[in-house]
Amino acid sequence: MNANLVKEFVGILGKEYVLTEEADRQSYSYDAAVLAPRIPALVVAPGNQEQLGRTVKLAYENGLPITVRGSGTNLSGGVIPEPGDSLVILTNRLNRIIEINEPDLYAVVEPGVITSQFADAVSARGLFYPPDPGSQTVSTLGGNVALNAGGLRGLKYGVTKDYLMGIEFFDYNGELVKTGSRTVKCVTGYNLGGMMISSEGTLGVFSQLILKLVPPPKASKAMMAVYGDINKASETVAAIIAAHILPCTLEILDQKCLKYVEAHTKAGLPTEAAAILLIEVDGSHAQGVEEDADKVMSLCKKHGATEIRIARDAAEKNKIWEARRNALPALARARPTTVLEDATVPRSKIPAMVADINRIADKYKLEIGTFGHAGDGNLHPTILCDRRDKEEFRRVEEAVDEIFDTALKLQGTLSGEHGIGMAKAKWMEKETNRATINFSKNLRRALDPKYLFNAGKKII
Ligand SMILES: Cc1cc2nc3c(=O)[nH]c(=O)nc-3n(C[C@H](O)[C@H](O)[C@H](O)COP(=O)(O)OP(=O)(O)OC[C@H]3O[C@@H](n4cnc5c(N)ncnc54)[C@H](O)[C@@H]3O)c2cc1C
Repeated sequence: MNANLVKEFVGILGKEYVLTEEADRQSYSYDAAVLAPRIPALVVAPGNQEQLGRTVKLAYENGLPITVRGSGTNLSGGVIPEPGDSLVILTNRLNRIIEINEPDLYAVVEPGVITSQFADAVSARGLFYPPDPGSQTVSTLGGNVALNAGGLRGLKYGVTKDYLMGIEFFDYNGELVKTGSRTVKCVTGYNLGGMMISSEGTLGVFSQLILKLVPPPKASKAMMAVYGDINKASETVAAIIAAHILPCTLEILDQKCLKYVEAHTKAGLPTEAAAILLIEVDGSHAQGVEEDADKVMSLCKKHGATEIRIARDAAEKNKIWEARRNALPALARARPTTVLEDATVPRSKIPAMVADINRIADKYKLEIGTFGHAGDGNLHPTILCDRRDKEEFRRVEEAVDEIFDTALKLQGTLSGEHGIGMAKAKWMEKETNRATINFSKNLRRALDPKYLFNAGKKII
């Protein structure tokens, strides 16, 4: 990269926060997707809003492709930099919780705040921030907004988009755009916050978020339903939703996941089971919670659960829930490569999707473990393989194609929460149509005329 330009970045940010050494830049060449790394030409870490705006302006004026990076935990190649003279902007120093407003139930934060640290700070003030992606101890709130992250509580409490009240972001001129407010209602102007949700770093660079908080539930009951047949577990999911009961958590883990997760976490999971459901109901009245829990338990039994284990206390529940959050790292220990997908279907189609994933595993002779937010229809079929084995990886790619085709046939979607990034951009038109791609390209061109914001991602 041009030495004078590097000097200009140093002038804005200070030498310490402009990384030029290859060894330093290499750390920002990849994310959690199974894709080839690319080393950026320069990595910078602004420490405040003004520095962030000046960085964006200088980079854009000089034609540098810009990738904003939270913690790099996305699974779609969303922060793999562009080839050539590209810039990675880190948000790790933009990590202040600016305000937690208890009477008005909102918080104002910078985008680099770690999700679980924010949830803990909010909880210490007697409030609740529900979105809890499995990566919450590492992921940033900015990354959560840019990917509309979900979590174990998505079924009842919704996902990140349901908590974004306002956002400030820098446009390509380095101008600060403000949208939304600290009020519950706000229809001033276009819903630019809605546009920034799932924007994957392609439309602007977030500098501040206003997030909704809610009162925490007063009562809850958590249980594990054990099955000897995975189809019966998935039928139970559809039955619970069809009975109009809304647990806050309704997760599934199949036999392969149970085996690897138990080996990794020693949480006491039933490794002999074909599948388990992790279910939690909560609410403001203990009696209502008990009634819902009873209905859920009788549906589990009716649909073939062989055993139902009730968590005796929060510690027992947290141990199992934490094991579930560790499903991906546990599976990743099994083979050199872990290809995790995110196919999502209407809830009533969960049994069909689960059956098809198992059919696809047999057809392509692959080991696929399935876990996920079953109550949201969001499954994570995870293929355990070795990318270096070309013949095996060809089967993996064919299996992934078929998983997506199946999800779309079932009126589902390519991605429930992991985003499109580089990994899935080629399938976008299959789910939508040409007019949708053209409309999105026009929007992108208007907001990023030089095509520098995370080029090569999402809409290509
Ligand atoms: C073990 C594991 C478990 C996971 N579990 C879940 C889960 O349960 N639910 C779920 O939804 N996801 C999950 N994920 C995926 C991932 O963690 C989430 O998508 C998370 O939101 C990414 O946050 P991040 O800070 O790592 O973002 P990054 O990966 O750094 O970035 C993601 C995207 O956000 C953009 N971005 C980041 N900050 C900004 C900003 N300030 N302005 C504009 N764009 C920005 C980036 O350019 C990129 O496109 C999991 C991942 C792993 C590895």
